[in-house]
Amino acid sequence: MEVASLLRQIPKVDDILHELETLGLLKGLPRSLVINVIRNTLDEIRKEIKNGGLLYVEKANVLERVKESLKIKGSPSLKRVINATGVILHTNLGRAPLSEEAIRQLVEIGRYYSNLEYDLKEGKRGHRYKHVEELLIELTGCEAAFVVNNNAAAVLLVLNTLAEGKEVLVSRGELVEIGGSFRIPEVMVKSGALLKEVGTTNRTHLYDYERAISPNTAMILKVHTSNYRVIGFTAEVPIEDLAQLAKKHGLLIMEDLGSGLLVDLSEWGIKDEPTVHRALRAGVDLVTFSGDKLLGGPQAGLILGRKDLVEVIRKNPLSRALRVDKLTLSALEATLRAYLDPKKAVQEVPVLKMITTSLGEIRRKARRLKRLIQAQVPKVQVSFVRETSRIGGGSFPLLELPTVCIGIKAEGVKASTLERLLREGDPPVVARVSDEMLLFDPRTLFEEEVPLLVDALKKALSA
Ligand SMILES: *Cc1c(COP(=O)(O)O)cnc(C)c1O
Repeated sequence: MEVASLLRQIPKVDDILHELETLGLLKGLPRSLVINVIRNTLDEIRKEIKNGGLLYVEKANVLERVKESLKIKGSPSLKRVINATGVILHTNLGRAPLSEEAIRQLVEIGRYYSNLEYDLKEGKRGHRYKHVEELLIELTGCEAAFVVNNNAAAVLLVLNTLAEGKEVLVSRGELVEIGGSFRIPEVMVKSGALLKEVGTTNRTHLYDYERAISPNTAMILKVHTSNYRVIGFTAEVPIEDLAQLAKKHGLLIMEDLGSGLLVDLSEWGIKDEPTVHRALRAGVDLVTFSGDKLLGGPQAGLILGRKDLVEVIRKNPLSRALRVDKLTLSALEATLRAYLDPKKAVQEVPVLKMITTSLGEIRRKARRLKRLIQAQVPKVQVSFVRETSRIGGGSFPLLELPTVCIGIKAEGVKASTLERLLREGDPPVVARVSDEMLLFDPRTLFEEEVPLLVDALKKALSA
């Protein structure tokens, strides 16, 4: 058909509006927004016709497209997801879910005014970081602490403040990339510090660092290789030795820990992760880590260490650009408070609870899930599958936590199709597929999500 006659077939805005009204789809949506959406959709269609991408126009299709856009406009884009993957710190799924206490604080501080920067005793301006600094000092024995938006910002800020235009020594084995966008060498360039690589990919010795020191060296940086391990013929220098070397030569020493582990999890078989305490005991001047990895709090970057250095960092104008808001601070304070009693932290901070959940507890949850699915969802085969959960978030790359998954096979539906249907459902469920079977790992499911997951499965299969 000719372009001109195709264009004539495009329905009128009022027509579509009327149609939507009849279908009862306009409830709660502002009329002006709906009209905008219709106009934009019709514009797109006009463009597609003109460049030959659309060969016929049907009112029903146009209506579908408008409805699709309205659905997006009408409901939030950022929404809760059920994580059935068993990856505890899933960066794509928002890393750490917050503790009940953190959520309570967040809501209260968000809803009302607060003493964010107000000293209630003195009746004058106070400090926004005080709310967490004292807790961090109490929990780790550090001299001072500062918080920024994330750990990438923390590293950037420390390097910019203390090593701009000066050399920073980093082992070649530690020039890591995390999650695609954070690369140590690139952050260093942006900070103005000069990266001086020492050693080799698999082996770096104390003498490599020592030989690399020049009059322009400001700092030694140790980076925790969070998301990979070099195995085989390897050597790295312990933080204790590096700290001594730095002292001997009057250099600063900093450790980027990645994850801020504040409790000892060796009782649960989780060893070898450097803790914040170890770094500080070793004598590092500064240590940085994330708030939403193993700490289990909101996204934040924590900087702990020497008071005189933290003071200088605080005064860097970049600090203001990287500053955290009151919601972050409220959730972070509540999360840190749980750590005053480590036993409580393991129970109350969801990330720690998921890591330390016993296999018995996981089996119990798996049995409940299986029972409910068998009772409510027809035409599916449900089985227990021995599997492993992962901590994720760039910690413990090699550690596998034994788990028991629920495996689902649905009659006449491929596992990959079912995976997609669940992912596109409401609430969306993210699950794994393995061996033509859909797997639900109970480890990352909250108790109240078990019935929701069963509902979602029922809906997906009836679609
Ligand atoms: C995760 C990680 C970062 C980045 O932390 P964000 O809080 O995501 O910005 C930096 N360094 C290391 C070693 C990490 O593991």
